[in-house]
Amino acid sequence: MFKPHFCPNPECHFHAYQNNQRSVKWYSKDGFYSSRLYGKVQRYKCKYCKVRFSEQTFNIDYHVKKKVSYKAIFNGIAATSSISDLSRKEKVSPHTIINRERRLAAQAMYIHSILLSTITIQEPIVCDGFQSVVQNFYFPNNINIAIGKRTQFFYSLSYAQIKRAGNLSDQQVEKKEHYESVSNIDPKAVEKSFSELISSIIEIMKESDKSELTLFTDRKQAYVAAIRNNLKLRTLIEAEKFQHTRISSKEPRTIKNPLFSVNYMDRQFRKDLSEHVVKSICFGRNVNNQLERMVIYRFYHNFIKSYRVRGNNKYTHSDMAGIPSKLSSYYIKHFFRERFFPSRIKILSVDQKILKRIYPTPLLDNSNLKKQETSKKDTKIA
Ligand SMILES: [Zn+2]
Repeated sequence: MFKPHFCPNPECHFHAYQNNQRSVKWYSKDGFYSSRLYGKVQRYKCKYCKVRFSEQTFNIDYHVKKKVSYKAIFNGIAATSSISDLSRKEKVSPHTIINRERRLAAQAMYIHSILLSTITIQEPIVCDGFQSVVQNFYFPNNINIAIGKRTQFFYSLSYAQIKRAGNLSDQQVEKKEHYESVSNIDPKAVEKSFSELISSIIEIMKESDKSELTLFTDRKQAYVAAIRNNLKLRTLIEAEKFQHTRISSKEPRTIKNPLFSVNYMDRQFRKDLSEHVVKSICFGRNVNNQLERMVIYRFYHNFIKSYRVRGNNKYTHSDMAGIPSKLSSYYIKHFFRERFFPSRIKILSVDQKILKRIYPTPLLDNSNLKKQETSKKDTKIA
């Protein structure tokens, strides 16, 4: 039998309420309504704020008109399915798939933050900028990632839109200049985004955490600048609790390389996520959608996938990072059905940006743009 555990109204006294044995009867039953999808649904009313709600208010499928398998979407994302593929397979519009991905991403970010709050970081962190593209090859990006050196737990990510580099033909240079003139690409994007990534690691470290923070990165100059200018890091540096080791990216990419964890993740992204597969014809069309899929993948990597599959290890990356397995199993069980409320959870600030979908997509969010460019749909939607 369903019982509401808290009031869904964020303004209400009973919103942050934690259900316990001697529970106060803060709500009353308030009749039923009938729904085409769910039949007869019990309605409730909060005695305190008078807000009405139902069992459906607490379901991941709140306000949906069509049932789609979240499991199919989740598994599809981790197995190179694009939005078009999933839309065909599930017989719903791409818009519906994007909507369900958004819901799954929110679930993934909430649970990630809840479970992170149960651990302290007990290992060096390896960081790197995973390079992909959005829209077309003229808009490369860096998804900065922070991975546990020992556990390969995927702690955090941040985003930077960058300019295309490398040898280009005259025609390509002309195109590049045109694209850059109609989009705002911050030359300091990598430094800023890397600084956000460091801040997110400090957010994860507890006040009581006496351990040091050791970072491993390649020799990108923007990282040094980000470390120098990050205010949150200053206290750690002054207390001599911070170390930064830079490794040449030319070092062989073996398991002995201190950057192994990010090299490993890089391979996983290129193998599993359709828009990051090398020579893919499927481009990410929207930065926020791309990041939503990345946090869904992070959830899959941390909580579902085994740590080093070939070694026949029965532990997940989350187990390796010290998250109690009883707790992670509880949340995994609720992942596809229970709706989590951001107002009840302290979410990592980098994830809040993804949740609020604040990243502009080049060409999409720019008013200077001529219409012809947004209407080009010659590639698959990711
Ligand atoms: Zn209430």
